[in-house]
Amino acid sequence: MQRKQNIIPLSNVKINGGFLADIQNLIASEVLPYQWAALNDEIPDAQPSHSIHNLEIAAGRSTGEFYGEVFQDSDLAKWLEAACYCMIIKPDDALQQKIDFAVELIADAQMDDGYLNTYFSVMAPEKRWTDLQECHEMYCVGHFMEAAVAHYQATGSHRMLDIMERAFDQMASVIGPEEGKIHGYPGHPEIELALMRMYEVTGKEKYAAYADYLMDVRGKQPFFYDEEQQTRGYIKYPENIPFGRKYTQSHMPVVDQVEAAGHAVRALYLFSGVLDAAAHYDHSDLLHTMNAVYEDITTKKMFITGGVGSTHVGEAFTSAYDLPNALTYNETCASIALGMFSDRLCRLYGQAKYADVLERVLYNGIISSMSMDGKRFFYVNPLQVNPAIQNNNPDYNHVKTERQQWFGCACCPPNVARYYMSVGDKLYTSCEDTLFVNLYAQSEVCWDSNKLALHTNYPADGNIRIACECAKPCKVCLRIPDWCENYTLSGTADALSESGYLEVELLEGTHTFELHLEMKPKRIWSNTLVSADAGRVALQYGPIVYCIESADNGDRIDELCILHDSDINIIENGFAWGLPELEVNGVREHLSGPLYCAKPPTQVPVKLRLVPYFAWGNRGKGEMSVWIRER
Ligand SMILES: [Zn+2]
Repeated sequence: MQRKQNIIPLSNVKINGGFLADIQNLIASEVLPYQWAALNDEIPDAQPSHSIHNLEIAAGRSTGEFYGEVFQDSDLAKWLEAACYCMIIKPDDALQQKIDFAVELIADAQMDDGYLNTYFSVMAPEKRWTDLQECHEMYCVGHFMEAAVAHYQATGSHRMLDIMERAFDQMASVIGPEEGKIHGYPGHPEIELALMRMYEVTGKEKYAAYADYLMDVRGKQPFFYDEEQQTRGYIKYPENIPFGRKYTQSHMPVVDQVEAAGHAVRALYLFSGVLDAAAHYDHSDLLHTMNAVYEDITTKKMFITGGVGSTHVGEAFTSAYDLPNALTYNETCASIALGMFSDRLCRLYGQAKYADVLERVLYNGIISSMSMDGKRFFYVNPLQVNPAIQNNNPDYNHVKTERQQWFGCACCPPNVARYYMSVGDKLYTSCEDTLFVNLYAQSEVCWDSNKLALHTNYPADGNIRIACECAKPCKVCLRIPDWCENYTLSGTADALSESGYLEVELLEGTHTFELHLEMKPKRIWSNTLVSADAGRVALQYGPIVYCIESADNGDRIDELCILHDSDINIIENGFAWGLPELEVNGVREHLSGPLYCAKPPTQVPVKLRLVPYFAWGNRGKGEMSVWIRER
């Protein structure tokens, strides 16, 4: 199937100011060095990583035991991918040296036959490929492949691609559809989307064909994992048994998975890869399923922040409209994976509605995971926090009320780094002479011999000056976000295309025009089937979701109500990367003394101050809530 939009490579996009540039600068200057230190176990008092040391042991450069999770290799792989994107947009000699060191370390850690996974090569080489369900070998190969793609894009070198081709060939010699091979598939999907990326940069059909095989074989009966367990004779993670087959999306063939179920990150990585492979092979039934499951997620199972995965039990999707603000899991990686699924759908179908979800996760549910100094991270992203209660109730053990230095299972922090360092290739897409502007940021882009520059403070405001230098006639399609009710283009309100873009035909020459997206704070209500939000309202400004915190409003924030008829005022010069704070009239309801009482609470007028959700928890420990009671 022909994609409506194609990726514009990072080398052709320059983000040169504003919110996203601030985040990229932070990642380049602080996050990547910090994470490199973490991967080298150099952060005092942080949970150890051992990711690099495991590779050094496997490479014969060091001695000792493997330490950490079976997927510990993937932490370095994601860091390497992020670092390579950084080299494209902000070249740096010291970073290049670390990249070179990492690539040669991976090469040395690779076994003679091409196999690459330090858990097995150090601990139990005889057990390679015996536990596809639980042991993440394919998942790690997938992340190394994504790093290889980024390394090639950054350097033009085939070194890392060659390493991963050897790893692929070894894997495909053991697992595959042919007789005599293991007819298996990964318990943690990821490699599917990585294979499609390998195909896209190398043009080698074997990668796409293998992704096609993996999605075809998944969930068919007899169930592969049952057979595998029987052959193996043991279960490595018995604690995962209660989660059932849905945990690994192996409960039914992928084509039947029209409702999102099981582990949210696994599901969304799978769907992203399936979408790419199904589009490549024009599997219309699978494409139909991917559309259905996306609809299921984004209209019934997604938090206003773009968080997904409502329960920590199996880190999973639950039923429609079950969106518990305090208890939720909302793993950072799940929002990242939802962003990946969304931008792939956007490119395939050319519909602005997918970029609406991409924007939601980009400015809310992903960036919330990182502290504003780039050195602390959330794994779980709740929408409501009360440390006094949550720190003393084991039901909330998965929810940290303060960001952490590092994690024993550290999938999220380097994932955030690679996501924002590659956001440039999500702002714009193209199709021949047409440029699609999917996300707005101060930036420049080159496509098809033409140049376009956006001058804007977005998302701090909705004014965007667009300057085009067209070497030949072209079309520019400007996405009108779902939150924007009124817009003008150089003073006129042109009609939207059916796909949600404003289309501007340009002749050869230089052009400037102004897009004004009316951005004003607004109340958002949830569907009344969401019981967790009943009687509550959230405030949003442009794409940014806001919250109240103790730091501005004192403790006992659940006593606070927003008055339904209050104006919402914008307070400039907030602490959150140039974004304003909001102020609204409310009341504090208070009832103390007995636990239950026949008298209603007292009401005291107050002004409520709100900050962007992503910035919560940067000013000490306290309570936070996105959804606020309304009076
Ligand atoms: Zn994660």
